[in-house]
Amino acid sequence: MKKVYLTIDDSPGTQFTQKVNLLAKHNIPAVFFCIGELIEKYPAAVVDSIHKGFIIANHSYTHPAFSKISLEQAKEEIYKTDQIIEGIYQTAGVKRPAKWFRFPYGDKGDFRNGKVFSIFKQGSRKRGATIQKMLRELGYEQPAMDGVTYRYMQKAKLWDDADWAWTFDIMEWAVEMEKPVQGLYNLDKVLQRLKTKNPRDCRGFLMGENRWLSSPSDEILLLHDHEATNEDFATIINYLRTLPFSFVSFDQFTQTEA
Ligand SMILES: [Zn+2]
Repeated sequence: MKKVYLTIDDSPGTQFTQKVNLLAKHNIPAVFFCIGELIEKYPAAVVDSIHKGFIIANHSYTHPAFSKISLEQAKEEIYKTDQIIEGIYQTAGVKRPAKWFRFPYGDKGDFRNGKVFSIFKQGSRKRGATIQKMLRELGYEQPAMDGVTYRYMQKAKLWDDADWAWTFDIMEWAVEMEKPVQGLYNLDKVLQRLKTKNPRDCRGFLMGENRWLSSPSDEILLLHDHEATNEDFATIINYLRTLPFSFVSFDQFTQTEA
């Protein structure tokens, strides 16, 4: 059966603990890519999530688009949050299992803004490589996931990078937009999309490849911890639980024993 790795970005939000408890209740493992300044706001909730077996990862300090900040600021965003996460694991009394990072908006700081197959300027590759080096120097890495077999991931060399990719975005954030993306103006539309054969997302690298439920590939699923969709979270998770795949743990990629 297809395996799904659940990753949740932009945590901890205002209902972080409710979300953690819901996932724990259904034994759904997850990695939370957290924003450093939000961890500072809700440290106890984050410690509690660690005690419940969830993994806390780095999603920058203030959630900027990395192509729009200086390299110095990029370093600060990564390092500061790294320190905060280190501290939170110490407070929790738990060994930090891994150093994982995901860029806000999928923007690797190379001016491609997540559109991995679009033409980009000379020099931006170099800038992207500089930021990759910052991540690697701190020990950040993206685990090799053998079951994730999408060709576009290889073609775009996403596995070569230290930051985490994703294969499928639930796109529930689209309901928050003033101008909804791809007609996803309410939760029903978001759920309907999950049933369609080859749902598109915003990254512009479909390559005509069968995706999501039409593909045998495992998935790195992307969901968000946003205030505007707090009420939708449980509905989405419960809906996902009816689909033909299983949520799997990250233990094989971490440095702590299962
Ligand atoms: Zn984000």
